[in-house]
Amino acid sequence: MSFLEYAPAPESRAILKLRDEYGLFIGGEFRPGRGQSFATISPADETHIATIASADDADVDDAVAAARRAYEKTWSKMSGRDRGKYLFRIARLVQERARELAVAESLDNGKPIKESRDVDVPLVAAWFFYYAGWADKLDYAGLGPDPRSLGVAGQVIPWNFPLLMLAWKIAPALAAGNTVVLKPAETTPLSALIFAEILQQADLPPGVVNIVTGAGATGAAVVRHPDVNKVAFTGSTGVGREIAKAVAGTDKKLTLELGGKAANIVFEDAPIDQAIEGIVNGIFFNQGHVCCAGSRLLVQESIHDEVVDRLKNRLSTLRLGDPLDKNTDIGAINSREQLDRIRELSRIGEEEGAERWSADCVIPDSGFWFAPTIFTNVQASHRIARDEIFGPVLSVLTFRTPAEAIEKANNTPYGLSAGIWTDKGSRILAVADRLRAGVVWANTFNRFDPASPFGGYKESGYGREGGRHGLAAYLKSGSASVGGRRVEARRAKKEVSA
Ligand code: NAP
Ligand code: MG
Repeated sequence: MSFLEYAPAPESRAILKLRDEYGLFIGGEFRPGRGQSFATISPADETHIATIASADDADVDDAVAAARRAYEKTWSKMSGRDRGKYLFRIARLVQERARELAVAESLDNGKPIKESRDVDVPLVAAWFFYYAGWADKLDYAGLGPDPRSLGVAGQVIPWNFPLLMLAWKIAPALAAGNTVVLKPAETTPLSALIFAEILQQADLPPGVVNIVTGAGATGAAVVRHPDVNKVAFTGSTGVGREIAKAVAGTDKKLTLELGGKAANIVFEDAPIDQAIEGIVNGIFFNQGHVCCAGSRLLVQESIHDEVVDRLKNRLSTLRLGDPLDKNTDIGAINSREQLDRIRELSRIGEEEGAERWSADCVIPDSGFWFAPTIFTNVQASHRIARDEIFGPVLSVLTFRTPAEAIEKANNTPYGLSAGIWTDKGSRILAVADRLRAGVVWANTFNRFDPASPFGGYKESGYGREGGRHGLAAYLKSGSASVGGRRVEARRAKKEVSA
């Protein structure tokens, strides 16, 4: 406990005009689901937020039919310029309703309001602005002249960045001329449903975007639906494998954005103060519920003790608590299930002989919480060095030479991201070149930009989202893409069913 405490500074919830119940968003209208409705709760205090409809197979069928009709009748017939106008309008409405969206996201997900307000929602708007600009320039996307849309895209997203993952999926799909059926995660449907209201406000033609809430079975129905032409999934590697199997042998195009266990490599010549902030941002941003989190710190042996000491000091200043408080650094864990998983892997870390240190913070009485935690004395064979914990837990390993750092960094079934901290530009280039990771940050971490492609190697999935590359997943360029699809399916088999 420090001498100076911050007074509570909660963001008001008054801006949220929530309904008690939300239906499915199909054909431009909200309507009841045929499945068993469920509650979405605030993970910070377990209070009920709203009742959410659940889509069964027949509802998913209706949603796909609505998307197909909209594709045939309006969206695929519209000029890229006109599609772009809708996307610009959506981007502006997201900005107009930014505060409301940020409050809803923090309430439903548990993430600190300063993150939803300053990171998630601005990036959502940026993603729509960026792809709005592409809608009339698809001939320049590098896929040859006159690339074609695929048809109906079925998209399934996780709970860690609910609205941002929606934007990553919907913006490129619509820019490229496809229509969409999207399933949000069961624990975080709220911002997607407010987004559906924004689509009504934007007068988007009915059926261009359909949102079907529900659990895993709803996602499976979207993925399996025979009239879906493209499947885009972000989530765990386990479910990604199931989806690759379900899609194998069909004509569907598939992209998978899966888990990670990124190395954040700190060399002895790194600017230490910045590196400490980067390590904190790398693993404690969004409670560590980040697929590209820097969950394995690889620190050069000579500076290990100094880095660990400074890190503990810094973590002791982080404020854990009410996600809606503007001073909060660490919010709630998204669900009891996720909390149990973090606890279990941390227990295993201790059992395997790693040394555990947790920040001494007051844990609220209700809700799901986990104090920022560091494990030292971690061996490469430990589960906490191999498995994705997806929580505020950092595993610290050491290395002596750059070659050893690279070898250890690549010693993982994943390959989504990595970080390098050093004073030398030449070392950044040399090391980055040999890291098998889709995104490599140098002297920074967890930076996102719609113009920059994002995606993984190995069990982190395949395909890229963001940038010009992100359009390729939603377009075909004549005969070449038929072969491309085959190559993709072969890769699916090789990399995912390992
Ligand atoms: P998850 O369990 O795989 O769920 C992801 C989504 O898939 C949810 O909407 C889920 O529904 C749905 N789903 C579950 N079973 C399904 C099935 N058989 N068929 C189709 N859909 C199904 O993952 P999560 O626990 O929500 O998210 C955490 C994981 O996502 C982590 O591993 C993380 O690394 C990864 N992630 C990756 C990226 C990336 O860009 N690479 C970004 C963010 C997160 P329910 O909500 O009902 O379970
Ligand atoms: Mg929730």
